[in-house]
Formats: sequence, C-alpha cells, structure tokens
Amino acid sequence: MKLVKDIGLATKKKHQISDEKAEEAVKTIIQWIGEDADREGLKSTPKRVVKAFKEYFKGYAQNAEQHLSKTFTEVEGYDDMVIEKNITIHSHCEHHMAPIIGVAHVAYIPSKKVVGLSKLARVVEAFSKRLQTQERLTMQIAKTIMQVLQPRGVAVTIDAAHHCMTNRGVKKEKTTTITNYFLGAFKDDLSFQNIYLRYINKN
Ligand SMILES: [Zn+2]
Repeated sequence: MKLVKDIGLATKKKHQISDEKAEEAVKTIIQWIGEDADREGLKSTPKRVVKAFKEYFKGYAQNAEQHLSKTFTEVEGYDDMVIEKNITIHSHCEHHMAPIIGVAHVAYIPSKKVVGLSKLARVVEAFSKRLQTQERLTMQIAKTIMQVLQPRGVAVTIDAAHHCMTNRGVKKEKTTTITNYFLGAFKDDLSFQNIYLRYINKN
C-alpha cells in the first residue's frame, strides 16, 4: 500500500524545481564527466536533456485510475479473459536512473466493466514513465486495474532488460527479468493462470 503513496509525494516535489535549475544540474554533470559544456555540440544539451526527461517521467502527471474510468456498455455481456500482449515498456530504474526496456502483458476477466484496449496500455504507460522497480511497476498496474474495474481477476507480466545490469555492473547483456502479479481468479484458480501463461507464450 505504501508503494503507491510515495509516488504522489514525488509529484509535488518535482514541480518546485524550475526547468532552468534542472538544466544547470545537467550542465554540472557534463562538466563532471570531463567535458566542455560550452562547446558547440553540447551548448543546447542541458535543454534537450530536460525536455527528454519530461517525456521519460511524464507518468508523474498522469492519473492511471482516470484512464480506466470510461467503460463500454455495449460489451457488457463479455465475461471471458481479455489479454493484451507485448505492450512496450520504457521505464527507468530508481537505483541508477538507467533504462528498463521490455514488454508487459496484461489480462483481466471482466465482471461488470470492460474498458477500451488502449486504456490498459495507458495504465502501463502512466506507471512506467516514472522511476521504478520492476516489481513495484508490475504490482501497481495489477492493483489499479483490480481496484477500478473490479474484475474477477487480473494478471500482469513484465519481461524487461535493465540497462543498469546489461551495460554496467555485472554486464549481463542478454539478461531479462520476468515478474508476475496475479489477483483474484488468476491467483486462486491455477487453470486461469495456465490459460493466461499459454496465451502470452504463444507467438
Ligand atoms: Zn538499476
């Protein structure tokens, strides 16, 4: 539970820092690595980095629950599993701010509400465009869908490469990490879990 609250605090703090101040910080790092921050090619880099960071971390300004608030009435009778596979993930690890690149698979079994397919990807996006651990990211996606849609069950799998591990440290280039989080029917009934796993492993 605590995991979700911490993120909200981060949002408020972020807005107290101006773009100019963030650009100065980037300039300091450029100098610290031994570069001439004033040379032609690097002059506008702090500005560009701050602009890029705004995109990498735009999830702080997004409300994941809101993405799920619009549900479809004309598919209300549909009560079988919905699986969305291979949702691209570009996140950053909170320990090194290094990229986490991979895919998410999200499934739910509707009981009352069915959402537009793009909305599941939006929830993934809202949580992944923040500083994350893969474990927490997996849980946040699952818990949010469970809370808002109140389906019979939710399953989330993330398969991702952590650049802090592939490009530095132990340098295991081919390593990916898989995390799963199951709620409701997916947790209680292994047959649902097995159907889900079979679908996400199909090419
Ligand atoms: Zn890391």
